[in-house]
Amino acid sequence: MRPLIDADLLQNQSYIGGSFVGEPRLAVTNPSTGELLAQVPDVGSAGAEEAVDAAATALPGWAGTTAKNRSALLRRWFDLIVGSRTDLATVLTSEQGKPFAEALGEIDYAASYVEFYAEEAKRISGEVLAAHRADARIMVLRQPVGVVAAITPWNFPAAMVTRKVAPALAAGCTVVLKPAPETPLTALALAELARRAGLPAGVLNVVTGDAIAIGQVLTTHRDIRLVGFTGSTEVGKILMRQAAGTVKKVALELGGNAPFIVFEDADIEAAVEGAIVSKFRNMGQTCVCTNRIYVHDSVHDAFVARLTDRMRSLQVGDGFAEGVMQGPLVNEAAVQKVEAHIADAVQKGAAVKLGGRRHPRGGTFFEPTVLTGVTGEMTLAREETFGPLAPVFRFIDEDEVIVAANATDTGLAAYFYSQNAARLFRVMERLQYGMVGVNTGMISTELAPFGGIKESGNSREGSQYGINEFLDMKYVCVGGVGSAS
Ligand code: ADP
Repeated sequence: MRPLIDADLLQNQSYIGGSFVGEPRLAVTNPSTGELLAQVPDVGSAGAEEAVDAAATALPGWAGTTAKNRSALLRRWFDLIVGSRTDLATVLTSEQGKPFAEALGEIDYAASYVEFYAEEAKRISGEVLAAHRADARIMVLRQPVGVVAAITPWNFPAAMVTRKVAPALAAGCTVVLKPAPETPLTALALAELARRAGLPAGVLNVVTGDAIAIGQVLTTHRDIRLVGFTGSTEVGKILMRQAAGTVKKVALELGGNAPFIVFEDADIEAAVEGAIVSKFRNMGQTCVCTNRIYVHDSVHDAFVARLTDRMRSLQVGDGFAEGVMQGPLVNEAAVQKVEAHIADAVQKGAAVKLGGRRHPRGGTFFEPTVLTGVTGEMTLAREETFGPLAPVFRFIDEDEVIVAANATDTGLAAYFYSQNAARLFRVMERLQYGMVGVNTGMISTELAPFGGIKESGNSREGSQYGINEFLDMKYVCVGGVGSAS
């Protein structure tokens, strides 16, 4: 791995109760080169229980300290993350593969959640409501839910961590984080920075190892009150089921199947740029990535020509190489899924306009691909490809395309391009999605509530709404007060 400016950021042990512990033995490799980067421990269910105990022990002190104090510690963590952005991005690109410029962008994005919730910590408040009796008062308190489990994926090894951990800590919760086995090193580096920021022992714990054993503890332990998860819909359902036994809150951010609609009155050039941004970030491996592109018949050919042209310039290669825009996919299974979607579409009549194959570099590199003549019967219309495949559907009518766009069990992000003001409102209101990008392909920011409906999840992360997940509401009825005169 490229040397870090601050070598101590490369931690290869789990972080429990304020100490780095465990015997490193699970390999973490670079998906671009196959290089062994480090080994991390498998703490198993015993380690997970220790981490929950540490978080439960730390909870009263952390929940009991002032919001100002929590805010100051989060702000210090933010400053340290920003100060180490180059090293953090180096770790991230090494274990995840995304281009270094994108990794730097992710670190800044990850840091922005810590900054935002450092500020938001001080704005948690309750209410006094109109009472039902003259001698009573109704108060509403908002208090931390307790110990939070956070389970995060490999596609955003930093941002998915801070998006859960920062609001949880701001609310006064303590956390046990289980990062993805592919990308634990970024999470451990963030934990090291949290330690240096002065976060008390046990407030944030990071456990690495077998997902099923650790997940079992995190979803059934009595001391965990909320399970926050970002990942596949399939695993989200398993965790929800497991958490039902102790009626935990579950905050789920699951898969998507984003439509991207280009109407005849769209700015085509802007729409192509938006499609590139939303389709090819992280090699197409984000849950808000465009999965289906619908283009009006009258602008279809012009759009496809321009899209294909732009995609030719997407340089594929190692994330650290100059000018590279597309790194490797996460693993061989990811490549096989892209191949299967292309083969199924071609067999059902689609045409390959660009790419369509593994990249000559080998490994898990794949050529940016454009398919035309795509229809709703093809697998890629129903399933998230999670790779660099841009399938183009042709449509004629607004009603028809909205029905097609909504014909999925998921409802995370949708995008559309149009310059017609009346249509903007009609379409944004009819799309059954938690987030809609209108004339933009880039919607993620810590300032907005990120989340889905239907099988895409049940929570919101970011903005002033994101902290609500981590706060319980308590109603207090105070009687015998007398009446105000
Ligand atoms: P992906 O397909 O993107 O890898 P997953 O949903 O499989 O998404 O994984 C997301 C996160 O969930 C990872 O941290 C992974 O280790 C974890 N995970 C997977 N299966 C389980 C499980 N049964 N219990 C707990 N965590 C799990």
